[in-house]
Amino acid sequence: MGDQPDGAGRVRDPAATPELTVVPAPPAARDVENMKVSIDKDKCIASGGCVFAAPEVFDQDDDGIVVLLDGNPPENQRPRVTEAIDACPAAVIGLG
Ligand code: SF4
Repeated sequence: MGDQPDGAGRVRDPAATPELTVVPAPPAARDVENMKVSIDKDKCIASGGCVFAAPEVFDQDDDGIVVLLDGNPPENQRPRVTEAIDACPAAVIGLG
């Protein structure tokens, strides 16, 4: 580095410029604004309450077992996801 020009043709003097600190990029907006939904399929008893409450987030496979359609649904889905959690008789759904 040192006297190598940067992309704009400038030369960085390492003696005059302190070491750069690497700052991690902020998480993607989707990670900040969206919920984190998880399921434990092994506990699912195929009642279907979750799909009725939040069809954009949950579905069922051919055996009726829950399928997570969107593990990071937008915040506006929170009431429906919460309703799905309340409707689930087997405590399958987690929300973080
Ligand atoms: S409500 Fe619970 S038990 Fe019923 S299908 Fe959904 S995850 Fe499975």
